[in-house]
Amino acid sequence: MRTLDQLEANGKSVLVRVDYNVPIKDGVVGDDTRVRASLPTIRELLEKGAKVVLMSHLGRPKGVDPAFSLLPVAEVLADLLEMPVKFVTGLPSSEEAFSDVKSAKPGEVLLLENVRFEPGEKKNDPELAKKYARLGDAFVLDAFGSAHREHASVVGVARILPSYAGRLMEREVKALGKLLHDPQKPYWVVLGGAKVSDKIGIIKSLLPKVEGMLIGGAMAFTFIKAIGGQVGGSLVEDDKLELAAGLLEEARSLGKQLLLPSDVVAAEQICSEAETKIFPAFGIPEGWLGLDIGPESRKIFAEALAPAHTVFWNGPMGVFETPPFDAGTLAVAEAIAGLDAYTVVGGGDSVSAVKRLGYADKFSHVSTGGGASLEFLEKGTLPGIEVLGGLSPEEV
Ligand code: ADP
Ligand code: MG
Repeated sequence: MRTLDQLEANGKSVLVRVDYNVPIKDGVVGDDTRVRASLPTIRELLEKGAKVVLMSHLGRPKGVDPAFSLLPVAEVLADLLEMPVKFVTGLPSSEEAFSDVKSAKPGEVLLLENVRFEPGEKKNDPELAKKYARLGDAFVLDAFGSAHREHASVVGVARILPSYAGRLMEREVKALGKLLHDPQKPYWVVLGGAKVSDKIGIIKSLLPKVEGMLIGGAMAFTFIKAIGGQVGGSLVEDDKLELAAGLLEEARSLGKQLLLPSDVVAAEQICSEAETKIFPAFGIPEGWLGLDIGPESRKIFAEALAPAHTVFWNGPMGVFETPPFDAGTLAVAEAIAGLDAYTVVGGGDSVSAVKRLGYADKFSHVSTGGGASLEFLEKGTLPGIEVLGGLSPEEV
């Protein structure tokens, strides 16, 4: 993968695809983590004497929609860089944007409008990619969180301009690559969240490498039901029961442990004030929803993790957004944070849980990519990595 080390940026216009898909409410950026994560690349390019032209998507607008404008991000970025950031109001493909970029000078930073306002962006329209390419002499992909998308601003433009990985992209690929290439054993994976269907790929690809996997969250109930457990009204994917049984069988034949919760915290509705009861995970009565792993499971999970030298975690153990159903997620965060091990957390909700519970700085790596980190761990590469020359054997 070509990186900034190979880019002679002095005097050039460098088009940088960043991931500024941040939460915005009433024109105010809620969490600036992703903006901060882009700073090393931007600063390095400025120091090298480049003009920096930033582009990103934000949300899922249907056409041009001011509610999805990146303008509030330009203000946050200007504050963080302590310098002006020119916000380009015209569409990234417009003549207006072209002339704004043309008239800017090396040492300046510009932010283009939301690339998802362009109808050709998600279709990877080659004509749109050509228009993006007019804005730079070189292209830097630093949007790790979007590197699994074959969109015009990710792979389309990278196929036209000389292209390089930014520092964030590089850091993510190195950190996640360690989970694939020679991880220190014992290696445990903790999975949770809503759906098994989102995690099939990663279970299949990581199972041969690990000691075992701990399964919590709603996805545990699909496994539990698949082997005859009573899950009450818990969230289950009824069309994935056979698949879940197959994964359990696969684990058994590989001699790997797939640990399911033994007990759950249940309530009759998802609500902080609801009465809660602990039930065996395989015997939840009708009308009750399993909403978190129970105290015994927390203990068993922590004990399984104790000897680990490598841990990857994706997916909360329960409905962590609604306390008290965050206790299982908190317990797992605490258990992993206390390890003397290489620890990585990835996934949008898992990362926000870890941050909210105050454990982010206790992990070796907190991935900025949700879907991208899972797909990278599943396939060992991403479309955005391939266009940058792919990974060398040592990097995989
Ligand atoms: P990530 O974004 O980290 O990959 P997911 O999107 O797969 O995680 O799953 C997160 C969601 O799963 C959260 O909204 C959480 O409330 C939900 N969830 C976890 N456990 C349960 C459960 N027992 N019942 C219902 N929803 C659950
Ligand atoms: Mg999620």
